[in-house]
Amino acid sequence: MKGQVFSTCPFFFVRHNSKEMKGIDINLGRKLTEAEEEYVYKHLRMHIEIEGDGEIRDLIEMPKSGRGMERDFRIGEIPVLFPCSEKEEAYREEGGHIVFNHDLIKSSFYLLSCYQEYATEERDAWGRYRYKDSIQAYWDMARKPIVNYYFEWMVEGIAKECEHRGIAYKKISPVGGPSVHLTHDLDTLRYYTWKKSLFRIAQVIGLRNCDTSRGRLAKAGCMSILNKLGLRHDEKTRRDPYWTFERIEDNEAYLGYKSTWFLLQEDGSKFGPDYRIDDEDVKEAVNRLIERGNEVGVHTTINTAKAADFKAQIEAIKSTYKGAKEINRKHFLSIDPDTMAREMEKGGIKVDCTLGFSEHEGFRSSYCMPHYLFDHEGQRTTEVVEIPLAMMDVTVLTHRKLIYDEIFLTVGEMLDEVRRFGGVFSLLWHNSTFDETYYPGIETFYEQLHSLFAQYQLKCYMTYESTKKYIGKTEK
Ligand SMILES: [Zn+2]
Repeated sequence: MKGQVFSTCPFFFVRHNSKEMKGIDINLGRKLTEAEEEYVYKHLRMHIEIEGDGEIRDLIEMPKSGRGMERDFRIGEIPVLFPCSEKEEAYREEGGHIVFNHDLIKSSFYLLSCYQEYATEERDAWGRYRYKDSIQAYWDMARKPIVNYYFEWMVEGIAKECEHRGIAYKKISPVGGPSVHLTHDLDTLRYYTWKKSLFRIAQVIGLRNCDTSRGRLAKAGCMSILNKLGLRHDEKTRRDPYWTFERIEDNEAYLGYKSTWFLLQEDGSKFGPDYRIDDEDVKEAVNRLIERGNEVGVHTTINTAKAADFKAQIEAIKSTYKGAKEINRKHFLSIDPDTMAREMEKGGIKVDCTLGFSEHEGFRSSYCMPHYLFDHEGQRTTEVVEIPLAMMDVTVLTHRKLIYDEIFLTVGEMLDEVRRFGGVFSLLWHNSTFDETYYPGIETFYEQLHSLFAQYQLKCYMTYESTKKYIGKTEK
């Protein structure tokens, strides 16, 4: 029987890397604990309010599944992880009550808490959970916020139950309308260093790997050297393609948007920055951003794992920049949402923006809204709020090698979902992704992408300021 179960289970192919030996079942073949259920209800309560002291948990008749993921069951095109019947509707009316047909609380928990990542040990060279191991890849549905669909069905059912019982209710939103969350990681700021210029020349003559046109690279290499030798005097052509603070900020300000900038520090690894956070020119540029209403946080280094590391780096940023906030994005997006949540919380991080797949765009927790991170080991909801990352520039340009038209299509697909649910589209665009040598036409594309946000009439979601309001709503 067991064999049969696994032969139809979406996850049979990663079983050998699961933590089954430690008693952790990737198929979650048990009922949820009280803390796990409450984690989902905490988020669901932000979608519907009922009058008086009423509690939505008491209104819901939800089956509790003790079985694992056994089959590919769907309502419409939306997969339901823990179905409890053959019914193709989320709920039914029975004796004047709403009764749910499937365990939507457990299905929500599995995705929202990133349970699949907790239950496996398989990671890439940077310690990242891989898109190809995920259930979102199995379904090819990373762009669909499945949990938002579950919540929509549950809110609908609760609303109907309230009507039957004559209880007043109000559908509410944790976000306050479809929004865009704009972010920039400052990994590298200096294009014309000797090291980089010589590296480009080495690429042109075939001593180093090169994944762009050699002709364009040769031009960039020569220009780099001429710049270093001080032989180019035209201000416009001398412009450093990585020093893009004003260009980015002007483009955003024109559309009424502001953004969050993450500063990286040295940690002795070879993936450190090529600047110091207290370099005079960096201070001037970053302080200007803060003065103009943008936010600044910490881009914690590749080796950051413990609370003390998070704390030291955020303290360094705060002591250099008045107005910097306890917000984090990990370099290389190398986050383990379970262990890292505990350490970030202890280290004083309030908001994290790391949770996105590096190799594929989409919603890693299948939810297009901020949410708290769950500590599986400790069985509790942490105080760290995550703003899930929907798309990184490098993902679509380098890993997926999409052309601009394809990127517009994939972004459009996600924005349709964000508009439908009033969610957040979080974008990471590096300051260094404006190099026309590597990406011809990139500046125009970047501007058009922002025009698309404006066409969708997206509001601006600010990492710290908007999350403060979000936390206020959960504490009601
Ligand atoms: Zn980075």
